[in-house]
Amino acid sequence: TDFNSLNLAEPILKALAAEGYTKPTPIQSQAIPPALEGRDILGIAQTGTGKTAAFALPILNHLAANPAQLKAKSTRVLILAPTRELASQIAVSFRTYGQHMKVSVATVFGGIPINRQIREMQRGVDVLVATPGRLIDLVQQKALTLSNVEVLVLDEADQMLDMGFIHSLRKIVPMVPKQRHTLFFSATMPKAIAELAAQFIKNPVKVSV
Ligand code: AMP
Repeated sequence: TDFNSLNLAEPILKALAAEGYTKPTPIQSQAIPPALEGRDILGIAQTGTGKTAAFALPILNHLAANPAQLKAKSTRVLILAPTRELASQIAVSFRTYGQHMKVSVATVFGGIPINRQIREMQRGVDVLVATPGRLIDLVQQKALTLSNVEVLVLDEADQMLDMGFIHSLRKIVPMVPKQRHTLFFSATMPKAIAELAAQFIKNPVKVSV
């Protein structure tokens, strides 16, 4: 298969061509079709497999098909990642694949002053990539509400647990509407992760590479 048979919107195909991507990686060809149908995804995949595009492309397709005005202090897509490095990389991927779309992407993580991040949230964003701790700070300071989130992604869930973010995740996920699309990725699937996934995703399609 190639990307043209995956039913992605024209601006996304154009960006992929510009990046020199010719065919989907295995995790992408498994995850993208069910994700485009709105199915929740439980993905077991490591970095380097193309997992970022496996969730970014269906999400961008959803945004392309459902344009909406930004709502103040809101995000339509929330991506949770364990580290600032991963959060930054995910944001770069969204900007790259969304280069021919009007999509705003912001990143928030700890270790730097929060004020600029608070200002960035004021007009709202389409895609917010966040580490759990700083996200909770922003919500508690009323700089951000999660009540308009349409798509939730947990990336590298096993690493988030290893880093002690379980409490944060249990706090964040209930703030996101129940009626949402959830994509859950982890490099490994020990019992604790499978149990966490079962709480956050509904009748998922399991994909692994
Ligand atoms: P990831 O596993 O998401 O960190 O992606 C690993 C690397 O593969 C990144 O540098 C991507 O730009 C690249 N990549 C992802 N999907 C494809 C694809 N279908 N064709 C070529 N390169 C890709």
